[in-house]
Amino acid sequence: MSTLTLADLRKSYADTPVIHGVDLDVADGEFVVLVGPSGCGKSTLLRMVAGLETVTAGRILIDGRVVNELEPRDRDIAMVFQNYALYPHMTVFQNMAYGLKIRGMTKAEIRRRVDEAAAMLGLGALLDRRPAALSGGQRQRVAMGRAIVREPKLFLFDEPLSNLDAKLRVQMRLEIKRLHQRLGVTSLYVTHDQVEAMTLADRLVVMNGGRAEQIGRPLDLYLRP
Ligand code: ADP
Ligand code: ADP
Repeated sequence: MSTLTLADLRKSYADTPVIHGVDLDVADGEFVVLVGPSGCGKSTLLRMVAGLETVTAGRILIDGRVVNELEPRDRDIAMVFQNYALYPHMTVFQNMAYGLKIRGMTKAEIRRRVDEAAAMLGLGALLDRRPAALSGGQRQRVAMGRAIVREPKLFLFDEPLSNLDAKLRVQMRLEIKRLHQRLGVTSLYVTHDQVEAMTLADRLVVMNGGRAEQIGRPLDLYLRP
């Protein structure tokens, strides 16, 4: 059971406000997509939830607990980035295992979790490869595997498909949807792609100029062309 609440969340850079009081309740298991034009504040919002940006005012609650002051590693979240952020010198196995290893998990448990996630993502035969020897889609799968093995309360996605070509984007979009249906982890997903947003979201947050302009189910919203 994991919920996310944003209460009058605000962010300024050098006294210039870029997020103007966003309120949002994400239910347990819900997949919420933040969508909107470049510069509207999606990434800043997500990074505040991740603990990668400080909060200027307002509160972030995970499972009812205020996390504003918690370090990223103490928030029980996992984030998937646009550029994958894989370690080039490590194998696929090591990339997926690293976050567990630094948390002191036993080798047997690490092995179990990595094997399970690798099977889910079709990476079972690639565990000894380094990222340079993988395709773009495979790299993005490793990035997702690294998030999945953490078994976090919350998945955060920052434009994870933007570096893929159009065909792969569609394929990976379906894969993310399938994984969410299987794992049911509460998710906050950022994209500027409206089709991606419409197909993935249980609910959409349409952002504009640092505000949540509309919040609702995909078919209930009007999106600007
Ligand atoms: P999006 O993810 O929707 O493209 P961002 O969250 O990256 O938007 O940016 C929101 C606004 O905040 C933009 O006007 C951007 O220029 C500004 N901004 C983002 N990061 C910084 C920063 N580190 N310092 C100053 N302004 C920033
Ligand atoms: P360390 O540097 O701590 O020895 P390793 O890279 O050897 O880290 O991996 C840690 C554990 O993960 C070891 O038990 C190893 O057997 C296992 N492991 C490493 N690579 C793979 C792989 N491709 N498939 C399955 N298990 C692996």
